[in-house]
Amino acid sequence: MPDNTTVGGVSVDTRHWIGGERVASVETFADSSPIDGSVLGEISRGTPKEVAAAVAAAKAAFPAWAGTARAERARVLHAIADGVEKRLEELATVETHDNGALLRSHRRGVMPRVAHNFRFFADWLVKLDHEDFETRGHTNHVSWDPAGPSVLITPWNAPLMLATWKVAPALAAGNTVILKPAEWSPLTASLLADIAAEAGLPAGVLNVVQGYGAEIGDALTSHPDVRRISFTGSVPTAQRIAASAAANLTPLSLELGGKSPLLVFADADLDLAVDLAVEQYDNAGQVCLAATRILVEEAVAHEFTRRFVEKASRLQQGDPRDEATDIGPNIHPRQLEKIDGFVRRAVEAGARAVIGGHRKEGQYYAPTLLTDVAEDSEIVQEEVFGPVLTLQTFADEGEAIRLANDTRFGLAATVATGDPERAERVTAQLVAGTVWVNCFFVRDLQAPFGGSRHSGVGREGGTWSFDFYCDVKNTVTAPKGWADHG
Ligand code: NAD
Repeated sequence: MPDNTTVGGVSVDTRHWIGGERVASVETFADSSPIDGSVLGEISRGTPKEVAAAVAAAKAAFPAWAGTARAERARVLHAIADGVEKRLEELATVETHDNGALLRSHRRGVMPRVAHNFRFFADWLVKLDHEDFETRGHTNHVSWDPAGPSVLITPWNAPLMLATWKVAPALAAGNTVILKPAEWSPLTASLLADIAAEAGLPAGVLNVVQGYGAEIGDALTSHPDVRRISFTGSVPTAQRIAASAAANLTPLSLELGGKSPLLVFADADLDLAVDLAVEQYDNAGQVCLAATRILVEEAVAHEFTRRFVEKASRLQQGDPRDEATDIGPNIHPRQLEKIDGFVRRAVEAGARAVIGGHRKEGQYYAPTLLTDVAEDSEIVQEEVFGPVLTLQTFADEGEAIRLANDTRFGLAATVATGDPERAERVTAQLVAGTVWVNCFFVRDLQAPFGGSRHSGVGREGGTWSFDFYCDVKNTVTAPKGWADHG
């Protein structure tokens, strides 16, 4: 079996990366491109044996990396960022072939953000601090101790961006890592291993295990030597991971799905609101934060829909390598089937497709807007993860808030209004980890990020990431000569 493959002219190793060496499994799995269904490579299909080796390597490398001075850890992270920037074009090309997202987004937004993930957490590490404080003359000193080997499990919709959003803070914190990328988009994680090694990251500090979650997930998440598990993916998988981690009470961070609302009030700048709504088709709708439920005040619903249809119908769907393309393919035939199933059942239940509502040739789904959807229907309550939006109307602010909060999710919400006081009142009542007012997707890495309810457990970003990846310790020291027996 070949050890590597060439994708868009870039050579990618298809084996695991364990303890600073390439390791092959006996079996492989085929990784195919959403662009044309072609097989990109045969990837090592991990088993519990490789998981055990990766955890052992991470455990062995932990004391030295945890004991490395903060400034030196930060230097290595910046060197990884340099490597990402140097190979940005290669990373963008491979990612586009592997997950079908736009090449121009990978070049201009996603891969620069990957480099920024490393730079940001390197810099945050250096200034991470907590002022000492006093208790009856005693000093309290808070420190962030590295926690240990960390398992990071990631999805396919933004593979390297979401992986490094976890890898960077985990490494910065002084932890060692076992990264398990999604089986539908395994390639850039392998390139990251090369980049990290070239940057001087010691062997065993970052390990990459490829394979099917269903086959190796349990070995990863129930391992007694694993000190942290950070997962981004679907709710059912999170439930399995939580059950598996319970055996060792391993701390978990869960970033899960969403069914986020976009609330459009009659006092909003309607063109802006339409722009925000159409933006939800980005990445062919495969964005956890996407505001897929559009809630519009009755008075402007007709005009909003008219302008939305006009704008959405100008979107170009096609090859994600083409500069003019706005919407690429969906990740996998199974995902396409899932999206189509949701829409067919919605239409059977009485929904009307204002635009779209059908598959297109190849692995594409037409951008879809559904109206006449019942509040308790599947299409309003469940995450589709495709280019499918629903539109509901509301009579007043109270109804808008009630509809917005009426799902089991709570990842994000977007509010379009021209009234700052309304914005304040409404946002205060929304259940969501992130709320955007008159904007969307503005993300600062120092901000807390995560979801409420079934959208997740915990927050990451800035100090929140270090809180998670570290064993935070408070040391209380008595003043010299003090004997406190109280
Ligand atoms: P998924 O849950 O099917 O898979 C995610 C990862 O989990 C993959 O690497 C998979 O191999 C692994 N996995 C599968 N079974 C496992 C098991 N039993 N134990 C351990 N790992 C296992 O999710 P997906 O379809 O890849 O991703 C889409 C989902 O991710 C959507 O629900 C989306 O909303 C969510 N998501 C959330 C965020 C966020 O930040 N909140 C970001 C992106 C995606």
